[in-house]
Amino acid sequence: MTTLTNESLCALAMSEGRNWMPFTANRLVNGRGDHRVVASAKGPYYTMADGKTVFDTLSGLWCTPLGHGNPRIADALRQQAETLDFAPGFQMTHAPAVTLAARIAKMAPEGLEHVFFANSGSEAVDTALKIAIGFHKLKGEGGRFRLIGRERGYHGVGFGGMSVGGIVPNRKMFATVMVPGVDHIRHPYDHAHVAFSKGQPEWGAHLADHLERLVALHDASTIAAVIVEPVQGSTGVLVPPVGYLQKLREICTKHGILLIFDEVITGFGRMGENFASQRFGVTPDMITFAKAVTNGIIPMGGVIVTSEIYKTFMNGPDAAIEFAHGYTYSGHPMAAAVAHTVLDIMEEKGTNAAVRALEPILEEEVHALQDLKSVKDLRNIGLTAAIELNPLSDKSALRSVQLFERGLEEGVLLRVTGDTISFGPPFISTPDQIRGMTAQVRKVIISCE
Ligand code: PLP
Repeated sequence: MTTLTNESLCALAMSEGRNWMPFTANRLVNGRGDHRVVASAKGPYYTMADGKTVFDTLSGLWCTPLGHGNPRIADALRQQAETLDFAPGFQMTHAPAVTLAARIAKMAPEGLEHVFFANSGSEAVDTALKIAIGFHKLKGEGGRFRLIGRERGYHGVGFGGMSVGGIVPNRKMFATVMVPGVDHIRHPYDHAHVAFSKGQPEWGAHLADHLERLVALHDASTIAAVIVEPVQGSTGVLVPPVGYLQKLREICTKHGILLIFDEVITGFGRMGENFASQRFGVTPDMITFAKAVTNGIIPMGGVIVTSEIYKTFMNGPDAAIEFAHGYTYSGHPMAAAVAHTVLDIMEEKGTNAAVRALEPILEEEVHALQDLKSVKDLRNIGLTAAIELNPLSDKSALRSVQLFERGLEEGVLLRVTGDTISFGPPFISTPDQIRGMTAQVRKVIISCE
């Protein structure tokens, strides 16, 4: 094994872009020195290659709620590698995947009973969209081919997820190759009515009625599914108004449309419940998950579906493959073993309760930033929050770089997208760490005003 020293890591980061980095301004990072290179991580902190320690304000990319460097998880990986490091998942299976599927189904809202494994959020979403199309076809309703997403939604980068996604910069380069028949409902955010709401805004449930307009336009008989994130994470924590998700559910049920909740960020505790569906009291037909299920340590994703969906697929001729879909690494034994250990730790630590206890602290701390002159809006729910700053027309991109760089100097790793800083701290954070984080963020914002 080649051991990379900090020096060689820095050299790598500056090695003429051999490592083409995802969702990155590569030219900005390459050649900027070692403060953009992560060397190690422990608990809720990263240590950068220049020796600086920074608080992990977004749990990696919303995926490491238990923090870093947990020895039990490392042990689980090693033990599974020694017992069964890989087995084909086609036409056979193994105990870690079987028991994990049962465990996840048990954690899910009642009625969601079967799990199809993938390796990422993007794969989970594309799997769910294909299940939706297949389900209707098998029921003799092949005309239902349309998929409805939502403005400002993020569902990964596969062709399906990109198409139902609603974040413009992710779409515009690929406009000609979007999945046909996709449309979008409007997003549920209206600054004039909901700015500075704590938790769920009271205003806005009626915005779900936009789905009725799309049903009228396209006719229900052409629509397979609606996919939404219960809380829109990547676009900057857009919280569903009270009653909004219930309305979406009612409209979907009325028209025989499947409702998919993309819980890649909200799944496994970020809302203080196993799934956001439980927090908001709305049960979809499918839930996609990824990220936190393995604490981000090894890739895994999946879709949880109702018995009705599963049974519909299981009705064909004996010995026929019911769903011609799957990945070499679906239900990978190493990922499944890690997921079991992660879920054990979550249960033992009571992380859902910990999130519920931290939520009011994060809320109070974030909303105390309202006095800053560049703040346009503050939003929060569960252990997520966002600070939206007044836009600076052509200088917003530059400010987002400054915020990130100043954050590193101040000791916080910030997730800045456009004018918004998003937060999803680890569930293992202490109240003091949350308070410390917002104090550092206050300084960072002031220094960029
Ligand atoms: N869906 C949602 C809601 C997400 O937030 C993300 C990633 O942030 C994805 C899907 C895509 O997940 P991945 O990056 O693992 O493909």
